[in-house]
Order: sequence, then C-alpha cells, then structure tokens
Amino acid sequence: MVRPRHVPERSCFSCGRRAGKRELVRLVRTVGGSVEVDPIGKVSGRGAYLCLDPECWNEGLKKTRLDRVLKCSVSPETRERLLAYAQDRLGPERTEGEMLEPPSVGAVE
Ligand SMILES: [Zn+2]
Repeated sequence: MVRPRHVPERSCFSCGRRAGKRELVRLVRTVGGSVEVDPIGKVSGRGAYLCLDPECWNEGLKKTRLDRVLKCSVSPETRERLLAYAQDRLGPERTEGEMLEPPSVGAVE
C-alpha cells in the first residue's frame, strides 16, 4: 500500500476516523483562549478535528475529550455553541427526505 503523501490526513478526535482535511471540521483554540470553528483551517492556534457527522460532535463534546485535545477547559457555553453549529451546518445534510422531497404538485396519483 502506497500512501499518498500530498494529502494531509487528520483524525477525528471523537471516533478516531482518519480522513482528509476537507472531510473534517477543524476546531481551534485561538490565542485569545476561546474555542472556535475554523472551516477554512487558517486560524492559528491548537487545532482539533471532527467528522462532518453531528454524532461525532455530540460524542466529542459531551465528554472532556475536547478539553484534553486542546489542553484547555471548554466552557459549557462553548460546547453549546459548537453543538449548535453542528446542528445548523451539518444536520440538514443528514436528514434525508425533508429537503430532497419535491413539493407536491398534485399530479401524482
Ligand atoms: Zn468522527
């Protein structure tokens, strides 16, 4: 097995799955000490990665894993904010049906 070296791989700190950076969302502890979502990976600071799966966010944020990965204490407010982000940005893609269902035109049966 040859490993392509030019694709940077990161692993989700919640489930441990390894994936390319684009398949993961970066969280960063900024120099100011707050924890932010860093969608483009440009914010400097200590980073942690999560899958694009709200489940991983739930799992990773409800315990103290994020605290350990970022080596800081993550406030409940921050957790809630990050979870809200996950629900907001990652949720809709996961709920199949609702968005994919075409509006009823009344012509089908
Ligand atoms: Zn994961």
